[in-house]
Amino acid sequence: MEIKEFVQKRKQELKQEFLNVDKNLKFVIVQMNEDPASNAYIKGKLKDGAELGVNVELRKFPIDFSEGQLLKEIYSLNLDKSVVGFIVQMPLPKQINEEKVKLAISPDKDVDGFHPLSKLNPCTPQGIMNYLDHEGIELLGKNAVVIGRSNIVGKPMAKLLLSRSANVTVLHSKTKFDDMFNYVKNADIIVVAVGKTGLLDNKFEYKKDAIIVDVGINREEDGLHGDAIKDLPVKFQTPVPGGVGLLTRLALYENLLKLFKSR
Ligand code: NAP
Repeated sequence: MEIKEFVQKRKQELKQEFLNVDKNLKFVIVQMNEDPASNAYIKGKLKDGAELGVNVELRKFPIDFSEGQLLKEIYSLNLDKSVVGFIVQMPLPKQINEEKVKLAISPDKDVDGFHPLSKLNPCTPQGIMNYLDHEGIELLGKNAVVIGRSNIVGKPMAKLLLSRSANVTVLHSKTKFDDMFNYVKNADIIVVAVGKTGLLDNKFEYKKDAIIVDVGINREEDGLHGDAIKDLPVKFQTPVPGGVGLLTRLALYENLLKLFKSR
């Protein structure tokens, strides 16, 4: 099933599930930047929340807030019984240590799944797994290559694939081209999360039944591009736009629903 269709179908189901939750409880989005990409992501999150019937509140703080002031707001959200979960939209201004912020959010309210003690997974890898499972993609014993090792995408993606008994290799900026060539050539599934337009192109060889999950979002003059060029000779590759971004948005509300249910 196409990703757009899958997301629409799953949203209808989620909408039904959210009918049963206490409408006095809310999901809070904390914003402390003037970043256009963040504005676009938050707009999408608010739109999804409205569509799903979730009580969502956006709290915007001045960009010259100190780290102490932001942490105080986070501690108060941790204690607020009317808040079922919240996220702090990244990136944060230079004076704030993002890792400190991620650790300050109570694992019980951490919708993004960034805290090491959170029971939830970060939204992008979780959204990808939900889709692969829906499509019945077998992972056990398959060669999975994850390109990129960030804490929010590459590493948790590798962990999830490993938990499903795939043979996982993680590549990064220090990987030599010849090695990447060989890993890519033998891969059954490639998840690319680097942020470089056209990193995966016809320089590489692919298994003809390989699957490419393209996480990259690169803003170029002619619009959005993934990390892979279009129409590679594989069984399936996820589009950009209209691919992993939609799965990530969906997974945020899947995570939120889990928090509602665990209360
Ligand atoms: P990040 O924190 O910048 O990490 C990029 C990773 O790519 C790093 O691990 C880096 O290696 C690796 N890398 C850089 N150049 C490379 C190369 N030439 N070959 C192999 N690996 C290379 O980025 P991120 O937050 O994971 O995001 C990655 C991309 O996904 C971005 O385009 C971002 O916008 C997009 N994204 C999309 C979604 C979505 O919902 N679709 C969600 C999150 C992110 P080192 O560790 O060695 O530096």
